[in-house]
Amino acid sequence: MRVLLVEDDALLGDGVRAGLKQAGFAVDWAQDGQTAKLALETEEYALLVLDLGLPKLSGTDLLKWLRASHAKLPVLILTARDTVADRVAGLNAGADDYLIKPFDLDELIARLNALLRRSAGQVMQSIQHGDIELTPASHQVTKNGEIMVLSGREFALLHELLLHTGRVLSREQLEQHLYGWGEEVESNSVEVHIHHLRKKLGVGLIRTLRGVGYVIDKATDTGPLSKT
Ligand code: CA
Repeated sequence: MRVLLVEDDALLGDGVRAGLKQAGFAVDWAQDGQTAKLALETEEYALLVLDLGLPKLSGTDLLKWLRASHAKLPVLILTARDTVADRVAGLNAGADDYLIKPFDLDELIARLNALLRRSAGQVMQSIQHGDIELTPASHQVTKNGEIMVLSGREFALLHELLLHTGRVLSREQLEQHLYGWGEEVESNSVEVHIHHLRKKLGVGLIRTLRGVGYVIDKATDTGPLSKT
């Protein structure tokens, strides 16, 4: 999942970026409103974490512009002051959720995962696919109920494919979700992670369409609910 973090406080921004990376997100960090606007115009994000008090272009103004153009991107605002007016302005401008500084990193991650679930139309806590279950909040994957040990990037790759079952994602699209700005993309990295995922979860899960990309087919539901 690729996240745009917009925060002008260097210490806080650095801490949040590190925490989100640890949780498996690819993070681009912009330190002013204009840079953030440019990033939103050129890159594709799954989430936006937005400070309201920003240089060059305020968070509220950025949000108003965003909602006029990219209506669906989930946005969580960070507000320094515990004032109702501040939060109301942000929510009225189109934010989906907010946190008041100082906040707990685990709470931020939990709220971001909740926003992701909502935006993907997932009402459940986890994504089930055949005998595989992925739970974003606990960063856990099980196969037949058994916990699978995945690296952060393997988890992120699987999560992305599971959120778009039936849709072919190119290597470039997947790389975009795995790496933030300034992070060096290892060559063949996606291929290597896919190889490891197949070894851990079974060869049939992820299909390669040579020259096109990768896909996890929609599950053929054989559960009790599908039986008539
Ligand atoms: Ca600020």
